[in-house]
Amino acid sequence: MLATNPSATPSVSATSATSAPAAPGPSVAPAAALLELTGIVKTFQTDDVETRALSNVELVINKGEFVSISGPSGSGKSTLLAILGLLDVPSGGEYRIAGESSAKLDPVRRAALRNRSIGFIFQAFNLIGDLTVEENVELPLTYRGMPAAERKRRVGEALDGVRMGHRARHLPAQLSGGQQQRVAVARAIAGDPLILLADEPTGNLDSKNGDAVMELLEQMHAKGATICMVTHNEDYARKATRVVHLFDGRVVEDRRG
Ligand code: ADP
Repeated sequence: MLATNPSATPSVSATSATSAPAAPGPSVAPAAALLELTGIVKTFQTDDVETRALSNVELVINKGEFVSISGPSGSGKSTLLAILGLLDVPSGGEYRIAGESSAKLDPVRRAALRNRSIGFIFQAFNLIGDLTVEENVELPLTYRGMPAAERKRRVGEALDGVRMGHRARHLPAQLSGGQQQRVAVARAIAGDPLILLADEPTGNLDSKNGDAVMELLEQMHAKGATICMVTHNEDYARKATRVVHLFDGRVVEDRRG
């Protein structure tokens, strides 16, 4: 069973844990590989046209990294995030998440892994309009079969963490864009995921609200969360500890800062 808390050690196999480069410094433990993409290819077939969205992507993301993914439109960023989030499957290559080969997951295990181990934050917030703020945050925990008392505690903590506790009974339409994205962040973190995947989380926000959401992500990273964020904003990309640049479905730059 996978650990679901970012601060817990994931059940990574010995071979995959040692395949990642060790962090520098004598007192630092070797980095644990959490997400491992090996020779990933993704093609889409539409009518007579085959589009290659990803070509031979090699990427190992370690526990605790904050990775920003950038690249021009059509370079494969969303496709990569969808594969990392178990929302789509590669056409070739291997994707291992916390030591488990994604190709070997049956649909039930795949859905459970997605629900328990991955938190998603989308550009368009994706809150459910006729559920209140607290119901939105609670929903993924309900799918998980979590007892009501624990759900309530986690929802309260997550909303307080993004300073939205005072709006728990509001509907999304009664909130500003910045507030809606803070609720979406609370929904993503309430389940203590192993990894947070954010697809242009500040894309629909003005700079003040964008900065606030970035501050939340930085706080979560400081507490040990692993984050993978697609962004077009160079200032926000610089806040990550690693920058991966895609072009034409390939990783053309991979830099730790
Ligand atoms: P980005 O997120 O960097 O803009 P995408 O991952 O969305 O890039 O797309 C990469 C390439 O794959 C593009 O050429 C896009 O048109 C194509 N693509 C993405 N999704 C599909 C799909 N469902 N069907 C056909 N082509 C797709």
